[in-house]
Amino acid sequence: MIRYKSESEIEAIRHGGRILRQALELVTRHCVPGVRTQELDQMAEQYIRDQGGKPSFKGYRGFPGSLCISVNEEVVHGIPGRRKVRQGDLVSVDCGVTWEGFVADSATTIAVGEVEPELQKLMDVTREALYLGIDQARPGRFIRDISKAVQDHVEKHGFTVVRDLVGHGVGYSVHEEPQVPNFVGPRKGPKILPGLVIAIEPMVNVGTSDVVMLEDRWTIVTRDRLPSAHFEHTIAVTENGPRILTNGD
Ligand code: MG
Ligand code: MG
Repeated sequence: MIRYKSESEIEAIRHGGRILRQALELVTRHCVPGVRTQELDQMAEQYIRDQGGKPSFKGYRGFPGSLCISVNEEVVHGIPGRRKVRQGDLVSVDCGVTWEGFVADSATTIAVGEVEPELQKLMDVTREALYLGIDQARPGRFIRDISKAVQDHVEKHGFTVVRDLVGHGVGYSVHEEPQVPNFVGPRKGPKILPGLVIAIEPMVNVGTSDVVMLEDRWTIVTRDRLPSAHFEHTIAVTENGPRILTNGD
């Protein structure tokens, strides 16, 4: 069942979303060669708590970090640790912030220094796909319209969308209905109505769309170990169209 949000609830999600965006900007500034992913995690957690928020992912189903940090072939759910970031890496950082009980969810992919042109294109296409998907989040359309906009853009550029993981409703908890796939399936999905709050999150691979889980039971990597990128925003559907709640406004 989809639980639609009131205007005041959307405001609470947006407030947390602003803290979240600032935390991601802080991490982006510090994501330089030699930094350990656990250092990035600790600075984000400290910042979120200093602002009166809570890191939504910490302890969620036992996840140990405040951020998911996924490097290169890691797609999502990477655990922060002693790994050092290196020049040329693609570092995907996913963060959730809970503010007065309401959850916002957003992710970005950071290029560490100069990256190969193919990786820069992967990042650009993934970000563009996110915004094309967001633009479909209008009353009267269907979840599948979002999925189609994302998939079409990604595949037009020769990349692939991950199918084993999808976007989702968010706000009262980290994951709610509906699912928001990045590919077109047999069903249209629910009709989009005002008050819908969803996380749209294309996960895009250079090679195969297939992914596997590592032995840590969290980290998802591409089956061919080629790189992956991930961008995500939490958005609310209004009468006038989508409103991004995690862009810092
Ligand atoms: Mg996320
Ligand atoms: Mg998400």
